[in-house]
Amino acid sequence: MFDDIPVDVSPMYEGERIRAANMYVELAGPKSIGAELVQVDDSIVDGKYEVIGPELSEMNQGEIYPFAIKIDIKGKKLEKELESVIERRTHDLCNYIQGFMHLNQRDQIWCRISIESAEMGFKLVDLAKALGILFKEEFPIIEEISITILTDLENVEKFVDDAKIVYSARDERARELSDEDVDVFYGCLMCQSFAPTHMCVVTPDRTALCGAINWFDCRAAAKMDPDGSIFEIEKGEVLDDVKGEYTNVNEMITQKTQGETEKVYLHSVFDYPHTSCGCFEAVAFYIPELDGIGIVDRDFTGETPLGIPFSSMAGQCSGGKQVEGFSGLSLEYMRSPKFLQADGAYERIVWMPNNIKTSLEEFIPEEIYDKIATDEDASNISSVKEYLEEKNHPILERLAKKEDNKKEDIDDKEKKSIDDSDTYDERAAIDINQEFIPVATAPEMAMPLSGGTKIIFKNAKIYAEKVIIKKYK
Ligand code: SF4
Repeated sequence: MFDDIPVDVSPMYEGERIRAANMYVELAGPKSIGAELVQVDDSIVDGKYEVIGPELSEMNQGEIYPFAIKIDIKGKKLEKELESVIERRTHDLCNYIQGFMHLNQRDQIWCRISIESAEMGFKLVDLAKALGILFKEEFPIIEEISITILTDLENVEKFVDDAKIVYSARDERARELSDEDVDVFYGCLMCQSFAPTHMCVVTPDRTALCGAINWFDCRAAAKMDPDGSIFEIEKGEVLDDVKGEYTNVNEMITQKTQGETEKVYLHSVFDYPHTSCGCFEAVAFYIPELDGIGIVDRDFTGETPLGIPFSSMAGQCSGGKQVEGFSGLSLEYMRSPKFLQADGAYERIVWMPNNIKTSLEEFIPEEIYDKIATDEDASNISSVKEYLEEKNHPILERLAKKEDNKKEDIDDKEKKSIDDSDTYDERAAIDINQEFIPVATAPEMAMPLSGGTKIIFKNAKIYAEKVIIKKYK
């Protein structure tokens, strides 16, 4: 079937990583532009695979090029609503190709081709041919397919602009509904190939965290293939409508994650946040020192106020883990009226990159918009705090209350310890003015023990009276 393609094509290549040292070229990604788009088109010529722009053999090793994948499909049972779901499979199917790495989705795609595959004679037209065969195999309702790969800047720029219009129209449609208007949500397991304990719960108010699939898309996919990776979840009893907790969602997530996750809150990053696979568009992260939440998206390459970039944070909370204080999310979810509603919504957001803040201007409440710091205003926790104080962000009230509660707790504990003891040792008294800040926080931390065992701390915060840093010889 793949006889005239010079490299192997098989699911066994999924998860293959191509490092910079081993890459022939990089396509699209953060240093260039690109997109992928699937559209139903009745005027296509079946089996037409072409490359517009330089082929791989005309590219220079080690360089980065613009790149787009245009997939047109036709079939009697194909509905427009299925486009996004079929498009989302581009990620997995590209990764079946030996020496081809595909990350992300929509206009966020980032691909690399290995030196080895380029030397075996692999060409971009082979990518188009392989995808054509794989898509027909995966979706028998696709009767005809035509794929065009674009690699010249002018055409890719135009394609990306057009694709963004299609993505926006899909996203806007999803905003017509809210969670209360429907009886079913959807589960998606497409990312279990690399995050085996992850299940996305897609609701009208919570678009999938990859940003590529909304409730309508899931409905069409589940109708087309009820036994497929996208399936219905009857909402069942609402346990908490603010946090977004439902009996059947909990049951389904327990079943589909082999018991690793038993409960999720759809609209909170605390206690039981939604799990994160790895292709989320952004991460919400708790900043304990400010009792606020920051957001960072994958396009932001600098450091967050926690002192780590998106990539490190994504590494800590991806893979299907449920990590309290962190949650992968889509940018579209930030437009939802239920966006982190259990945590205080935008009143709890204290920092985000300027690019996302400006893109969300019409969705962030006017009274809070200027009070949220961006990378242009502050880069670490103390400068964010200064900015919040200068703008009188509502989080300050929350912080003050938290401090009062902490002091009351400490007073109570002190009083109890005095009551409990005949002899009160002054040295044991806690200085209530002392600020307790964790010296380290980590979603997961392992401590190896002798005998081959280890202790794993989840959502660890370490407080210390003193930290001694010694030079290791
Ligand atoms: S991120 Fe979620 S919705 Fe998107 S493909 Fe993966 S599992 Fe499905």
